[in-house]
Amino acid sequence: MAERKPLISGNWKMHHNHFEAIQMVQSLSYQLNADDYNVCDVSVHPPFTDLRSIQTVLESDHIPISLGAQHCHQEEKGAYTGEVSAGMLQKLNVKLVIVGHSERREIFGESNAQINSKVKAIFKHGMTPILCVGETIEEREEGEAETKVRTQLEEGLQDIGRERIGAMVVAYEPIWAIGTGATATPEDAQNMCAHVRESIKSIAGNGSAETIRIQYGGSVKPVNAAELMNQRDIDGALVGGAALEAESFARIIQYRLH
Ligand code: PEP
Repeated sequence: MAERKPLISGNWKMHHNHFEAIQMVQSLSYQLNADDYNVCDVSVHPPFTDLRSIQTVLESDHIPISLGAQHCHQEEKGAYTGEVSAGMLQKLNVKLVIVGHSERREIFGESNAQINSKVKAIFKHGMTPILCVGETIEEREEGEAETKVRTQLEEGLQDIGRERIGAMVVAYEPIWAIGTGATATPEDAQNMCAHVRESIKSIAGNGSAETIRIQYGGSVKPVNAAELMNQRDIDGALVGGAALEAESFARIIQYRLH
């Protein structure tokens, strides 16, 4: 079985201006040590306006946290007021880009086809997509969760090479657990992450399914991180609320000690 280094990512959403973001990342780096980075990859995904400041802090202080973005536009450039391209993110040394977050899908109406174009743009610029998938509570209750997630993967990853799929990240985020305090049980999270891996196997083959990293997201906190992270098919976490404060995010990253 492939060794998959866990990836714990903080999605700050529309929180922290660039002054607050600098403080947060410095404080986080004081709480983490070389052992933490050896066993776990860490990324932070601040708002666009913070990216340059955080890039400077991470690089000048040699902090081994990857810079991430929350979103990008699929086109290279053009008349898309308010948007930011993958090429612009690459120039800031962004390494990981969240794509298809349920808030982008629900509030901004992003379709699987658009998400697929974004995944391609992210790869084209040498970055790694974190593709978010997940079901609503109604879909879960109606027994449609697995089909929904499978379709999101098939359509979101259309025409992407096997090697690239094997190197990317999928975040399984049940929509009913995001920002609600209601976490999936470790068993439910494991079952759906195993389903994601099975789906990747049929989309891109066994090799890609073995190496792709699958995060769980949805009210991950210091108290539940270890149980979730210890599941066989869970290779990390995408964390919203609990990643806004350095102390709670550091405790999640150090889940193995708690
Ligand atoms: C998220 O934003 O992807 C998320 C999982 O948020 P929270 O941890 O707050 O549920």
